[in-house]
Amino acid sequence: MTKNVITLRNLTVAYDRHPAVHHISGSIERGSLTAIAGPNGAGKSTLLKTIMGELRPAEGSVEHTLSRADFGYLPQAADINRRFPITVLDTVLLGAWRNSGAFGRVAKADIERARMALQTVGLDGFEKRHIGALSAGQFQRVLFARLLLQDAKVILLDEPFTAIDARTTRDLIDIILGWHSDGRTVIAVLHDFDQVRSHFPQTLLIARELVSWGKTEEALSSDNLLKARAMAERWDEDAEVCKPENLLKRPAA
Ligand code: ADP
Ligand code: MG
Repeated sequence: MTKNVITLRNLTVAYDRHPAVHHISGSIERGSLTAIAGPNGAGKSTLLKTIMGELRPAEGSVEHTLSRADFGYLPQAADINRRFPITVLDTVLLGAWRNSGAFGRVAKADIERARMALQTVGLDGFEKRHIGALSAGQFQRVLFARLLLQDAKVILLDEPFTAIDARTTRDLIDIILGWHSDGRTVIAVLHDFDQVRSHFPQTLLIARELVSWGKTEEALSSDNLLKARAMAERWDEDAEVCKPENLLKRPAA
């Protein structure tokens, strides 16, 4: 088995020919715990969606050494529909699709595992509640329980702690650390640098282009953070001249 589970080769991803992720190269080692950091609009979510195969590269490539089924993905909260009328237990059971098939019968063993996953995330007794009636923190616990059931080898989390209470955040960080000690590969988009420095050995800092990627302490040096901010300020200035009627005329950068 090779050491890397994901390799980005000169990866560029664009919306309407505007690059959101630009010429990124590097790799994620099996069993590593990596934070993705960067200003708003830096391309962090775009990068995760491209790794998951939801977006196609405009240039370059993403290579995996594992299959799609080995990947677990938690999108940013804004992309998740919580009005779907489904119970907590059934939501967690969606993580078992790999065993049961999309329309297959759910095995008794899976229901038992789903109950255990709910216990692990501190939601014992919540099985029959509807997801629409949960707090943001409780719902995030449900989604982590689903990831536990899925038993993925690589787990991608997009801002898992944004708008989540401190207690839930602490509990869910423990689950991430547990995944890491199991030998799973975890990648998480995070905003809190203290959290990143305390728990994530590797960091990828992005501002459309790669700013730094490596050991967290070096990747998040004050020089690199200033550089990321300066790059983001440049987009804000560009935005002035980027009127809708000009958008289509602008050449891809
Ligand atoms: P981040 O997650 O780092 O905040 P995103 O990856 O969501 O950044 O977005 C990167 C850039 O791409 C932003 O300028 C954003 O406005 C733009 N973008 C994101 N999604 C779309 C989309 N579906 N269509 C057009 N532009 C998009
Ligand atoms: Mg995002």
